[in-house]
Amino acid sequence: MIHRTNASVTPAAVAFAVTAAAAPGDLPRTPREPRLAARGHLTPLHHRALGHAWDGWTLALEEHPDGAARAHTGRVSVLLAGELHNRAELARATGLGTGAGTGTGVGTGTGTGPYEGGDAELLAHAYARYGEHVLRMLNGRYALLLCDGPLLLAATDHAGGVPLYLHRTGAAVRLATEAKALLHPGDHTGTPPAGLLPVRGSQEVRQVPAGTAAVLHLETGAARTFTTWTPSPARHLPTPDQAVTRTREALERAVRTRLPAAGTPTAVLSGGIDSSTVAALAAGAGHGLETVSMGTDLGDEFAAARLVADHLGARHPGLRHTEITLTTGELLAELPWAVWAAEVTDPDIIEYLLPLVALYRRLDGPPRRILTGYGADIPLGGMHRHARHLPELDDLVAHDMAHFDGLNEMSPTLAAIAGHWTTHPYWDRDVLDTLLPLEAGLKHRDGIDKWVLRRAAADVLPAETVRRPKLGVHEGSGTTSALDRLFLAHGTAPDRVRQARRQALDALYDTLVAGPAHPDDIPLDDFLKGLPA
Ligand code: ATP
Ligand code: MG
Repeated sequence: MIHRTNASVTPAAVAFAVTAAAAPGDLPRTPREPRLAARGHLTPLHHRALGHAWDGWTLALEEHPDGAARAHTGRVSVLLAGELHNRAELARATGLGTGAGTGTGVGTGTGTGPYEGGDAELLAHAYARYGEHVLRMLNGRYALLLCDGPLLLAATDHAGGVPLYLHRTGAAVRLATEAKALLHPGDHTGTPPAGLLPVRGSQEVRQVPAGTAAVLHLETGAARTFTTWTPSPARHLPTPDQAVTRTREALERAVRTRLPAAGTPTAVLSGGIDSSTVAALAAGAGHGLETVSMGTDLGDEFAAARLVADHLGARHPGLRHTEITLTTGELLAELPWAVWAAEVTDPDIIEYLLPLVALYRRLDGPPRRILTGYGADIPLGGMHRHARHLPELDDLVAHDMAHFDGLNEMSPTLAAIAGHWTTHPYWDRDVLDTLLPLEAGLKHRDGIDKWVLRRAAADVLPAETVRRPKLGVHEGSGTTSALDRLFLAHGTAPDRVRQARRQALDALYDTLVAGPAHPDDIPLDDFLKGLPA
């Protein structure tokens, strides 16, 4: 039977919390409703197959046919939270049809037309052909669980774009897309497999690194990991024109494969070069576009964003632009929500994510597919515009690419707490593989930062936007000064603000992620007053 849900805007699952064991008898009793910050439709999951059994929950933002996020073929079972972006290539290589299809349903999809089956089903077919090495062929944003008899694969995409956590307890393995679903006090009895990232609040729960698959044998307990992607250390020397053409082509494809199967996409737009390019390419695809810009009483980039929205609107009718203004108090009140969603305590990362979480939580209506320009600066060295020499710039880029893992900067939970799905074209696997290896003189050229990107977007944006210097999301929205003022107002000495911020974030994590609280239970002022001075 073929179920097609062509009206879907968001993936068939965006989160899961599942326990797996070799046999139903080894499963602990069915877990209660999982602790997940993502908000949507929970579907219970009870599955038995040869060599493995699963119990748990999947979560979708829209109603999807039961099981659309899963595929079961004989002894192989697949569960995927997120989506694939190279469906057409994968289907073709696996002998399953010729085109991209919509990928939101469950179907057999053989034949000559586009492959219409769900991503999980496509993956099951590709696994039958390629085995575990299929994970090295995927371009997508996902966390996945694949069992082949008693062999369990738990993997994230190249960027860890959907975080995945793992906890081994006795004969069972618990897996979830949010740490909080696994961090039950007093419930930690297993030895973690080697090769995974530590998680604050537990000795036993681990995070699966980006571009890594954990392989566990459910009967013998044997465990190993293998790498599916690493940032390239090589640098390539295309001509400037070649670099610009390749950048444009890779970005156009990444934006196209991220547009919704139906409905209008949303772009969060600052008027900076990163998000303006994404908005321009999305508008050019002809599916309509809604752009949204946020600001606070301490700062906004409304004029820069409006310039882009007007420019695109004049060329692509049907474009709608909205501005959302928050008070400083409203912005700061989002701090518990940002920690709850991101599950990290890094002060810099939370400073970037806070205004975005505040914005996502103010986007109304049914689930949206939100395109963002987030992440462009990492492979292009945009934060290091003052690096004076090319070797320094390249070292900084390599350092940033070696240290993004585990920071959850692009976690879907940031928007899934408000019922929306975000997507990051600059962290498409093929875009990264195009941008990162460019020699530094193509990233910084003629005194211009992100040169190759600016040139690649020059024909679709106003000249002023193409020239506009970088302004970080935390700077443009006034978030940095709002956070400083908050701690000064709580009596923190100016030279201790940074330390106090770190302590407050640790305490919020311990209460909300490792502990049992919900952001609604935390009035920020009272919480900060309760912290040691
Ligand atoms: P640039 O890096 O040149 O400033 P940018 O503003 O697009 O370009 P960032 O500053 O790195 O990129 O911000 C990351 C992303 O967050 C943006 O690409 C955009 O999608 C989103 N964003 C940032 N600021 C805002 C804002 N004020 N309103 C809406 N979205 C924003
Ligand atoms: Mg910016």
